[in-house]
Amino acid sequence: MRSLSPSPLQELDDERARRAGVRLLLKRDDLLHPPVSGSKWRKLQPNLERARPTGLLLTFGGAYSSHLRAAAAAGREAGLRTVGIVRGDELRGRELNPVLTQAAADGMELEFISRSAWRSRMEPEALAVWRDRYGPAWVVPEGGSNADGVRGCVSLGEELRDIGAGLVVCSVGTGGLLAGLAAGLGPDQRALGFAALAHADLAEETRALQREAFGGVRGHWTVDAEAAVFGGYGRRAPEVDAFRGDFEGRHGVVLDPTYEAKLLCALFARLQAGGVAHGTTVVAVVAG
Ligand SMILES: *Cc1c(COP(=O)(O)O)cnc(C)c1O
Repeated sequence: MRSLSPSPLQELDDERARRAGVRLLLKRDDLLHPPVSGSKWRKLQPNLERARPTGLLLTFGGAYSSHLRAAAAAGREAGLRTVGIVRGDELRGRELNPVLTQAAADGMELEFISRSAWRSRMEPEALAVWRDRYGPAWVVPEGGSNADGVRGCVSLGEELRDIGAGLVVCSVGTGGLLAGLAAGLGPDQRALGFAALAHADLAEETRALQREAFGGVRGHWTVDAEAAVFGGYGRRAPEVDAFRGDFEGRHGVVLDPTYEAKLLCALFARLQAGGVAHGTTVVAVVAG
């Protein structure tokens, strides 16, 4: 399958943005390489190259991880073997949910581990066990967010350099997307990440990922830790569901409920509150 590169930009005609004096564009990274979502695809490409010498990519995720599903599909396409280590041994022997069913259908071997084993999954002893069991592998953390994954997202920022956008917003799960995106933007552009979960310091995680990928912090970026959490990761909120349905009706774009619906809901609230300067061109990244 070939990917569109760069992914399309879509201008949104939306009265709420107009009222705030803002030009709003969607960066349709979800169209970059279906069925693997854009940001996950960008993060996986360099990791697949790293996995090529051993032929095996081993990675981690929760039971509903879109990264696991993406890694399985991308690995299959690249002709590589994939192993997914899944958090939660209570899932062992049970019927697979749709995400894991798809990963398994794409050839991913799944192993379920307990929450305590999960905590030490990247320790040297644990890595030795994985390699013993599955053979030499390129090991990728959950979300695909390692130095290679972050560097894979730099192209996203670069694609947004020359379009006159002052502000680029994206959703933040592990911070890998924001870390790479911000590093690829121009010197007069700023990135704002909206956290999709509350139980981690995502600004610190993003900084750590930038240090790992580039040896230091890059670009102008901040994280809003609260406005887009809406009850926590993976939780649905009536307000967001209503916003999402309305957005689909107005623009024909179906937003992913975990990340993008919350991102845009929080962005519109910020626009309404006058939190973005009149005359700004804002790009919202639809990552998957
Ligand atoms: C994974 C994902 C994100 C978050 O990316 P991180 O690099 O984990 O912060 C945002 N949006 C979508 C649709 C995703 O699949």
